[in-house]
Amino acid sequence: MKIIQSICEMKDYRAGITNDKRVGFVATMGALHQGHLSLIQASIAANDYTIVSIFVNPTQFGANEDFGAYPRTLEADIALCERAGVSTIFAPNVDDMYDDDEVGLFAPKKMGYILEGFDRPTHFAGVLQVVLKLFCLIKPHCAYFGQKDAQQVLILQKMVCDLFLDIEIVPCPIQRDSDGLALSSRNVYLSVSERQKALCIPRTIMLIKKSILQGEREVATLRAMALQSLQSEDITLFYAQFCNHKLEPITHIVENESIFLIAAKVGQTRLLDNLWI
Ligand code: AMP
Repeated sequence: MKIIQSICEMKDYRAGITNDKRVGFVATMGALHQGHLSLIQASIAANDYTIVSIFVNPTQFGANEDFGAYPRTLEADIALCERAGVSTIFAPNVDDMYDDDEVGLFAPKKMGYILEGFDRPTHFAGVLQVVLKLFCLIKPHCAYFGQKDAQQVLILQKMVCDLFLDIEIVPCPIQRDSDGLALSSRNVYLSVSERQKALCIPRTIMLIKKSILQGEREVATLRAMALQSLQSEDITLFYAQFCNHKLEPITHIVENESIFLIAAKVGQTRLLDNLWI
């Protein structure tokens, strides 16, 4: 496995991969877990080369967010990638990735400033910026993203479409811990009691799933059920919304076109979960 840190070396490495080979890409901020691993495995199964970026991207963090405290576990990440059969890790420095007078990107006005974007208005512009820069360097055929970050996947699909990029975004299913909590690098922030409280989030997801499987299609009914379930614990709910894939609110569930998204704060930790219906 190659470990590349410099932009020049990444360019040279990519130029050395011949056109008949397929390149898969997994963008991460490190502190890798089974969720990341599932994307890596999907890429390895479908491509000749799998490149994993490990970069805690400052531009997607708000001023009062956890950029400094974000877990950084590079040695363990390298070992996980090596075991998984990754071809190359790309782990650049912040100073090499960004100029101090950088060309920027805007998030889409409708999809980028609601839900996560409402509480974190600079977040998706930062995500689009770093992912586009990584796409330019790595030139993948396919890029694998987790459905865990539903709004992110949908906005990235929109970017690829709007900018006519010849890259397939492959959404991958949410991976959960044995207690049901969606895996996240930020779960390490949770104390034992906070984690117990947080479990009302996956419980609510399961409740809604079951109810839809039993035939319920009215969003008003499902939402009331979700709010009651989420309010059973001492957590700060940011949103629990049913949307279509343009992130517009819906009144009725349509299979393969609807998503239920939850964001809540437990202690100091912002947690996301969702159900692709
Ligand atoms: P991050 O390192 O948090 O930026 O995540 C890198 C990628 O891994 C993103 O595409 C995430 O959506 C994905 N990911 C994170 N957690 C999970 C999970 N529990 N299941 C599936 N994918 C995930």
